[in-house]
Amino acid sequence: MAQQMGNQPLIVLSEDSQRTSGKDAQSMNIQAGKAVAESVRTTLGPKGMDKMLVDSTGNVVVTNDGVTLLTEMDIDHPAADMIVEVAETQEDEVGDGTTSAVVVAGELLKRAEELLEQDIHATTLAQGYRQAAAEATKALEDVAIDVDEDDTEILRQIAATAMTGKGAENARDLLSELVVDAVRTVADEDGIDDENIAVEKVVGGAIENSELVEGVLISKDRVSENMPYFVEDANVAIVDGALEVKETEIDAEVNVTDPDQLQQFIEQEEAQLKEMVDQLVDVGADAVFVDKGIDDMAQHYLAQEGILAVRRVKNSDAKRIARATGATPVSNLDDITEDHLGFAGSVAQKEIAGDDHIFIEDVEDAKAVTLILRGGTEHVIDEVDRAIEDSIGVVRTTIEDGKVLAGGGAPEVGLSLALRDFADSVGGREQLAVEAFADALEVIPRTLAENAGLDPIDSLVELRSAHDGGDTAAGLDAYTGDTIDMEGEGVYEPLRIKTQALESATEAAVMLLRIDDVIAAGDLAVSDDDDDEEMPGGPGGGMGGMGGMGGGMGGMM
Ligand code: ADP
Ligand code: MG
Repeated sequence: MAQQMGNQPLIVLSEDSQRTSGKDAQSMNIQAGKAVAESVRTTLGPKGMDKMLVDSTGNVVVTNDGVTLLTEMDIDHPAADMIVEVAETQEDEVGDGTTSAVVVAGELLKRAEELLEQDIHATTLAQGYRQAAAEATKALEDVAIDVDEDDTEILRQIAATAMTGKGAENARDLLSELVVDAVRTVADEDGIDDENIAVEKVVGGAIENSELVEGVLISKDRVSENMPYFVEDANVAIVDGALEVKETEIDAEVNVTDPDQLQQFIEQEEAQLKEMVDQLVDVGADAVFVDKGIDDMAQHYLAQEGILAVRRVKNSDAKRIARATGATPVSNLDDITEDHLGFAGSVAQKEIAGDDHIFIEDVEDAKAVTLILRGGTEHVIDEVDRAIEDSIGVVRTTIEDGKVLAGGGAPEVGLSLALRDFADSVGGREQLAVEAFADALEVIPRTLAENAGLDPIDSLVELRSAHDGGDTAAGLDAYTGDTIDMEGEGVYEPLRIKTQALESATEAAVMLLRIDDVIAAGDLAVSDDDDDEEMPGGPGGGMGGMGGMGGGMGGMM
């Protein structure tokens, strides 16, 4: 920052830093934001295409998922990062709608650019956009459809809509059934925690072979072949520790003077291990899941007792086993009682596609489930997994909120019309911003049409006239190009997908528009492809403060 002090400029910035101010800063940020939106646009909707990303180590990701694309791409501009954050927020809050949110944010910036060129002030634009977003949220709530959490059919349709156009599409019916069952099973009085739905990806077989285990599946073998591979009506113990004699006790320096002494040590150790196993036997454990190792001798004793044991069980798996069976993990076996045990009708080692897994099933109230996803190759399964995650997100959101909207561009066309009406009631130049917002929303139906190889203008004209005629659920059939009733078609999305997208997209656009000064501690170039590791963090971190600063300056002007 250089300020005139007499005729000596006062230099407060280091020589390496780069500063972009005023219209240049605005324009740079808008270009960066638009570029991000443009990069995901072609993936939107049922006919959206996939992208293949290859990272510097040669890892390949093939995906259609907005947030995955943006996080896998090496995005290196602070303004672009803010648009990526829109996708990330959307992913965290709803789990779907990431591409739409980013595309809308990009379009809001594009429309803003036109108004800025007409000398509409950024602050006016920001106010207009915020008013429009608030009005849009209200309008969406008005047309939202109530969904009962017991309405299986509509929940499955919502799950299926989220999978449309993704790798999972072929097996949509089966997968949406599994997703709805999974979400319902894990729901409890505290709500729905996605963590309780584990996804086990198995390469081999077809997607149609995917299944839901109401219980827990862990990709491990029993620790010894002498143990049973199946236990019926099993009392389940979880040991948060090891079935070993503490290392330090053996490692301690001991001067063994005669062979008897060594023998004594070994016997002592064996006795300790036997005692641990006896403690488990005494309380009646049939299946034991251990966080750390199990000594060979302990394995031997456990096998003798017909106990199935698994070692090095992941923490997350142990949590799910506890939740599904009702077991309480114990860290010291001296404390174990019958009350710590859980129950499963069946604990069994089974093979899927050549690999052994332990299934803990037939539990009274599962509360934790495992979705076994099958597919021909790893890349295929990974993409199915991403679609499933979206699907789980929308079903969870719908059960939580009980409100959905018709999809296929219907809400955006409706909103666009409603906001143009609303703009008339907004005085001054904000009116122009509200109108720009209304236009921007049409980017969704327009892009759905474009990606389906349809004429976007024709499609929009038809959609608008249907909405004008009162058909609030009229959307675009991406397969035929017709304007159809999306409710009748069963294309539904949770209300929150749209309200969250509008909110994040508006906030990100407004934040970028209000910045009139970008000061970077180094080079700042949109098309800079050097692998400067410090770049994203450096200016990105600085930008957080910049937003506020730009805002302040905007207000002063
Ligand atoms: P996002 O990351 O935004 O969820 P998608 O590629 O999943 O992006 O596309 C979502 C859009 O596709 C939404 O506007 C949704 O309504 C629309 N859509 C989904 N299924 C259909 C369908 N069968 N017909 C028309 N539009 C659909
Ligand atoms: Mg989606």
